[in-house]
Amino acid sequence: MPTFVHTEKCDGCKDGEVTVCMYICPHDLMTLDPVRMKAFNQEPEQCWECQCCVKACPQQAIEVRAYQDIVPMGGAVIPLRTDNAIMWTIKFRDGALKRFKFPVRTTPVGSIDVYGGKPEPGDINSPNLFTETGKTLPTIS
Ligand code: SF4
Ligand code: SF4
Repeated sequence: MPTFVHTEKCDGCKDGEVTVCMYICPHDLMTLDPVRMKAFNQEPEQCWECQCCVKACPQQAIEVRAYQDIVPMGGAVIPLRTDNAIMWTIKFRDGALKRFKFPVRTTPVGSIDVYGGKPEPGDINSPNLFTETGKTLPTIS
């Protein structure tokens, strides 16, 4: 079930060249109506509900219309992203709300050392990964 945009919340990413939802969608589905400055999913049947745009939208304007067996009509699953966690709000059909926070990183923003503690890259012709130094792969005969 695809995403949809709460148009009253969407600000078109303030006239940026590429909106956040357009930038993040791995399927190039989100697009912007340049007259109304509101985003929309241009091919809803192609949406795989990865939630990338939902989590990335700075206005929390995007929602996924979830399958009814998971989220019955009237329910909603709404993420609110912060630097180090996502606060999920689960809205039930009867109006009940549940919230839980899920951490999304283990290091402070900007501090990660991607190659810290890793060996120097070795022989580019070796079939081994660069972390597999000294390992001999079996040969196929
Ligand atoms: S990321 Fe959110 S605010 Fe920006 S254009 Fe998309 S829906 Fe609108
Ligand atoms: S949920 Fe994923 S596939 Fe669907 S529009 Fe958003 S980013 Fe694209």
